[in-house]
Amino acid sequence: MESLSRREMLMWAGASAAGVATIGAPGGVALAAGAAGTKEYTLPPLPYEYNALEPVLDEKTMRIHHDKHHAGYVKGLNATLQKLEAARKAGDFSAVQALSRALAFHGSGHVLHSLYWENLNPEPSKPGGALHHAINDQFGGFETMTAQLAAATNTVAGSGWGLLAYEPLGKRLLILQIEKHENQMFCGATPILVIDVWEHAYYLKYQNMRADYVKALMKHVNWDVVTKRYDDLIGPQ
Ligand code: MN
Repeated sequence: MESLSRREMLMWAGASAAGVATIGAPGGVALAAGAAGTKEYTLPPLPYEYNALEPVLDEKTMRIHHDKHHAGYVKGLNATLQKLEAARKAGDFSAVQALSRALAFHGSGHVLHSLYWENLNPEPSKPGGALHHAINDQFGGFETMTAQLAAATNTVAGSGWGLLAYEPLGKRLLILQIEKHENQMFCGATPILVIDVWEHAYYLKYQNMRADYVKALMKHVNWDVVTKRYDDLIGPQ
C-alpha cells in the first residue's frame, strides 16, 4: 500500500512542477513555516560555493543569478499567494487572471532554479542505473540524447529552459523547451534536468554565444542527482 500511495503522490506531483517539492528529492523546493499553518517559499542556498563552477560559470553571474534573480521569483511567488488570499477574503476576483499568470511564472521560476542549482556539479558524472538504460532504449544512446537536448536548449525562443523530463502516462523521457518559466510545459511531465537559457544565466561570460554556454554546462550536469530524481519518479521496479 505504501508504494501505491507513493506512486499516486508522484503522479499528482507530476501534474505540477512545484510538486517536486513534496517528494523530498534533491532539488526539492525550500519551504518555511508561515502563519496559520501555511508555508512560505524560501530561497535555498546554493549547494556549492559561488565559484565552484568556474570557469564554466563565473562567480559574479552565480551571485547575481541566485541572490537577485532566483530570490526575486521567491518573493514574487509569496507576494502573489498573499494577493490571492486577500482577493478571497475580499470576495474580489477582478485581478485573478493576472494573479494566476504571476503564480505560474514566479512559482515555476522558483522550482526551475531550485532544480537547476542541484543538477549542476563541478565534477563530471554519467547517468546511472535505470536512467542509463532508459536513455539507451528511448534515445539510442547518451550522445544522441544530449545532442537533442543541446539542440532543443540552444533554440529556445527568447528566455527559457531546455529540459529532460519524465512523463508518467507514457512512462517515457521527453526533451522539452520551456519559454519564460512556464510556457510550453507538457502537463504531467516532471523535469529531472533543467538548463537555464535566460540571458542572465550566461551573458556576462558568453554574451550572445548561448551554444558555447550550453556545451560547457552539459559537461557539468550532476547525473547522480538526475538519476535519483528519475528513480524517485519511476518507483520500485
Ligand atoms: Mn535564471
